[in-house]
Amino acid sequence: MSLLLRGGLLVTQDPARRVVPGDVLVEEGRIAAVGHVEATADETLDCSGCAVLPGFINTHHHVANTLLRGVADDVPLEEMLEKAFAIDAKLTRRDVQVGALLGCIEMIRSGTTSFHDLFYWEDEVARAVRESGMRGFLSWVTLDAAFTTQRGDPVKNAEQFVGKHRGDPRVVPSVGVQGVYVASEETYAAAADVATRLGVRLHTHLSETRPEVYRHLEKTGLRPVEWLEKIGFLSERLTAAHGVWLTLREVRTLARHGVSVAHCPVSNMKLASGGVAPVPEMLQEGVVVSLGTDSPISNNGMDMFSDMKVAALLHKATRWDARVVPAQAALDMATIRAAEALGVARDLGSIEVGKRADLAVVSFRGAHTTPFYPANLISHLVYSCRGSDVRTTIVDGQVLMAEGVLRTVDEAEIVGRAQETARELFEA
Ligand SMILES: [Zn+2]
Repeated sequence: MSLLLRGGLLVTQDPARRVVPGDVLVEEGRIAAVGHVEATADETLDCSGCAVLPGFINTHHHVANTLLRGVADDVPLEEMLEKAFAIDAKLTRRDVQVGALLGCIEMIRSGTTSFHDLFYWEDEVARAVRESGMRGFLSWVTLDAAFTTQRGDPVKNAEQFVGKHRGDPRVVPSVGVQGVYVASEETYAAAADVATRLGVRLHTHLSETRPEVYRHLEKTGLRPVEWLEKIGFLSERLTAAHGVWLTLREVRTLARHGVSVAHCPVSNMKLASGGVAPVPEMLQEGVVVSLGTDSPISNNGMDMFSDMKVAALLHKATRWDARVVPAQAALDMATIRAAEALGVARDLGSIEVGKRADLAVVSFRGAHTTPFYPANLISHLVYSCRGSDVRTTIVDGQVLMAEGVLRTVDEAEIVGRAQETARELFEA
């Protein structure tokens, strides 16, 4: 099966960050040629007036919570979690699957091709990933038995999940840990042990709020990063979400151990985590920083265009420096840096021959993106475009959406089912 994307502006995100006019030829799920392509293909998509991007990689998400969008707005994290946990306890496997499918549709519609999820029942999320055709990096969350709503031992559940899906290119399993506030040294060690033994990655929340950091300091005498270093949890295997309340020393510790950070600016702002993640320092010290939307309860969407824009603006506003986090850096966080963060830059994150064909085609024909010319293309992507400008989304050479129409799932049916499921959950 071959596919030809004809006549777009290719935002390659290659090492030179070249933007070139031309075509992309896809064969057997991989990019076979970039630039002027003479060949023909089984299917040709006209990309004139459009940019072709590597699909976005959302590196921190809880996609099943799409069903809980809007249930806890304008309240702080603790209150949000309380409301979320109360509903969570009522969720069935079927609800989780409907929520995940709904989220997958929203992501496909806005050009996201991969997401890094943290949840229990990831096997239901995996089902939604396969059905929709997306690529999921799915971390089964572990935490102490005293805090969990999971049936059975969370670490054993995680191990089972990883064992079942390991080796699948579309569902890449890994082990998660909720955070230091609900996970002991034993839980962290057991999670790391499973990840090392099975050769998969780790995913955790880290230093999201001030109370989290100071309670941990009181309890252990160490800040979370210092404590995780002491117990041997920090490594290149780990992607840590948030990293809002970090000292410069902690930033350097993360850099030294090769830990990547999923920056979640919208979620942090909405929950009033206070302070701002020290992203300029992370970049300066060599931490790989990517972007995450976090839960639909705290975002409330998963449009990476919106999160790129907020990431760029947040640091400019708080540093009084318009040059900090420029558009190119924000786009990098959503594409190539995200692939590096998840250890998959050999296959994803840029448009280069040999990589998997995970692509998004973005129209520049809207009033809100006019005038556009090659010189302002990158800043338009970050400051002017919206998820709804995405016309076509491709994963592994499979067209999931073409000209705004989903091919893999029945969108209207799933949206209807999600609305009905939510009504049953919240009106009961
Ligand atoms: Zn989260």
